[in-house]
Amino acid sequence: MIPVAGFAGRVVAVFGLGKSGLSTVRALQDGGAKVIAWDDTEAKRKEAADAGIVLEDIATRDWSDIAALVLSPGVPLTHPEPHWSAKRAAAAGVEIIGDVELLGRTLKASGAGAKLVAITGTNGKSTTTALIGHMVARCGGDAQVGGNIGKPVFELDPPRANSVYVIEVSSYQIDLAPGFAPNVAILLNITPDHIDRHGTIENYAGVKARVFANQTAEDTAIIGVDDGYSSDICTAVSATRLQKVVPVSIGKTIGRGIYVLDGLLYDSTGTQTQKVGDLRPLRTLAGAHNWQNAAAAYAAGRALGFPRDKILASFETFPGLAHRMEIVAEQDGVRYVNDSKATNADAASKALATYHDIYWILGGKSKEGGIETLIEYFPRVRHAYLIGASSDEFAHTLEGKVGYTRAQTLDRAVESAANDAEEAEGDLRVVLLSPACASFDQYPNFEVRGDAFRALVLKHLSDKGRASA
Ligand code: ADP
Repeated sequence: MIPVAGFAGRVVAVFGLGKSGLSTVRALQDGGAKVIAWDDTEAKRKEAADAGIVLEDIATRDWSDIAALVLSPGVPLTHPEPHWSAKRAAAAGVEIIGDVELLGRTLKASGAGAKLVAITGTNGKSTTTALIGHMVARCGGDAQVGGNIGKPVFELDPPRANSVYVIEVSSYQIDLAPGFAPNVAILLNITPDHIDRHGTIENYAGVKARVFANQTAEDTAIIGVDDGYSSDICTAVSATRLQKVVPVSIGKTIGRGIYVLDGLLYDSTGTQTQKVGDLRPLRTLAGAHNWQNAAAAYAAGRALGFPRDKILASFETFPGLAHRMEIVAEQDGVRYVNDSKATNADAASKALATYHDIYWILGGKSKEGGIETLIEYFPRVRHAYLIGASSDEFAHTLEGKVGYTRAQTLDRAVESAANDAEEAEGDLRVVLLSPACASFDQYPNFEVRGDAFRALVLKHLSDKGRASA
């Protein structure tokens, strides 16, 4: 637990008592603040009260002694309309901030010399965050990985001289961090997403760009330049700001930056372009989308002063993240891949683009547009196994293009797909769960669905092993 600096003896209102909110309350209290906490939901208030947290209705309370309102990132700050607590804070002239802002201030106040790396973007945040954490640890640093990736930032260890805080930040968290100044800030990419919360894509891109706004000459901005919004941000940051800017591209040569061509990583940030390494053999970072994550992580490693060869060596031992093209097993030429996190067609396209002989398990609660946009990948699919509520819709799209089986449930899908893949010929056949759907018709969330897939695959392989023994 890291105690929050700067609020000792002052009153701080915390609204939103989920996992990160409760942790922020404790960290503020540890730092000596007088915390008053509130949530719109009765159940959350009860949970907080049971944990000994003082509740006070900030809707009716006088705000004159409140020093700051700390909002949970899930609470609307601007769109579709400001939450009532944000309106009250604005009316009372009280600053509105989030846990990431508090972390930045606390690290600066500690004077320990710890470094802060922030990762944002529409896709690939968690993978890149985990990869950088792994790299820092392998290069001898004290890696503290948290934020949007799952661990609330104040649950991390207090700063030491060699600590590197590797923090995944969503646009919601950036919105609540007006003074945030990471030593290394990464923007991977921007595609339309979460527009409900930010009004327009321009506003969303504007919020993402603010991750660079407070950086100084000693800091580094790493920016993926393969989409128009991020590329415009890179141009603007380079033209108007002081920090070092490192553009990253997959597929394009860059005069001064980091890029990947045909899986080979190049560094042209120095006087000469150097070929740094080959990303193609990295099983846990397969696919062009993961090369973007790896290239950004490499740039971060260089900004932190790590040697090239150590960075590359750390990529080889990266275990990967669960549910994101996670390799569950590989046996007799068949690889079993859990990509349960692919809850829409765009996310599923990454796995489909990575492999060739695919035995594809898909379906669930479908999103708008279904799998129409995936038709270009159908030649890679040997057979499809449909599960869940989307079966009729997806059968219609596959009809005449890909053979399919209505498996209905995941256990039947795994069994059929595994048997078919095992009987087929080819160098590498892939049984792939990449549902292109939410899980809610059959599972509480994508994690439970992915865990079920993993367990079914392992059971299938152990039963098979026993049968042949
Ligand atoms: P996030 O934390 O931003 O949601 P993850 O690292 O959890 O991202 O990856 C989620 C999914 O997004 C992956 O399964 C993959 O399909 C896709 N993805 C990962 N990295 C990228 C990237 N750099 N560009 C585009 N899509 C990506």
